[in-house]
Amino acid sequence: MKKFKLSKFLLPFVAAGLSVIGLEQIVPAQSAVSVHLTMGNPSAAGTSSLNNYLLNKSQYAVGYNCSLGRPNWVSWQLNSSWLGSTPRQDDFRADTTLPSGCYQVQGTDFSGSGFDRGHMTPSADRTSSVTNNSATFLMTNMIAQAPDNNQGIWANLENYCRTLVSGGKELYIISGGYGTGGTGSNGAANTIANGKVTVPDRTWKIIVVVTPGTGASGVTTSTRVIAVNIPNDQGVRNADWKNYRVSVDSLESLTGYDFLSQVSTSTQSVIEARVDNL
Ligand code: MN
Ligand code: MN
Repeated sequence: MKKFKLSKFLLPFVAAGLSVIGLEQIVPAQSAVSVHLTMGNPSAAGTSSLNNYLLNKSQYAVGYNCSLGRPNWVSWQLNSSWLGSTPRQDDFRADTTLPSGCYQVQGTDFSGSGFDRGHMTPSADRTSSVTNNSATFLMTNMIAQAPDNNQGIWANLENYCRTLVSGGKELYIISGGYGTGGTGSNGAANTIANGKVTVPDRTWKIIVVVTPGTGASGVTTSTRVIAVNIPNDQGVRNADWKNYRVSVDSLESLTGYDFLSQVSTSTQSVIEARVDNL
């Protein structure tokens, strides 16, 4: 019998996140509805709650919170296939795919607030095409971020992630804001945009560093996982993100989410307790 080869016919199904079992049977994989949720859906976001609403985009996945006017979390894959030479599109705009009853944060809603429109999936992580870069400017990918956080320590960590990709790694990144109240360039605020957008108290991020193509089953107890929890305040521009490293367990306690749920629980218990020290 000839060895089974992935045909051009089957490839689109695999790309759509379906697993191929044998030759005839095609069944959905456990939760791999999106490549960006390879490590899991942290809050089991779906379409029944406006405050835990799943947005599945080609470029990233979002668990959105309509009451807070911001994502609870954004999750994305980063590898060399997403990186190219497309310039920054800067087309900040409302996400019209939000369901009715959910306020669509406008591209101009942060104006004069003293907070940046802080990308979760960075513009510079999606430079393979105009479409992919433009998608990062949807306001559902933004939190109200203190300029020193966004432009300093946070940007440095984003740059570091891309150096890992240059070194041949694939990353699965999950990030968000937590809590209420930050300090921007106009001082402290709990909300902006007439109360429609809640300013987070902290910005957190989890980075799983894997060999390309190995997925959740490629995560072992020796897989590097970087997690940070940074104040959403002025004053951290020149701080070192390494000084804000924490365990994934601490972020799970803080947020109530289960990160990396597609990784075996025995492996999670090891890598989620560790604090990166490279
Ligand atoms: Mn940013
Ligand atoms: Mn977990």
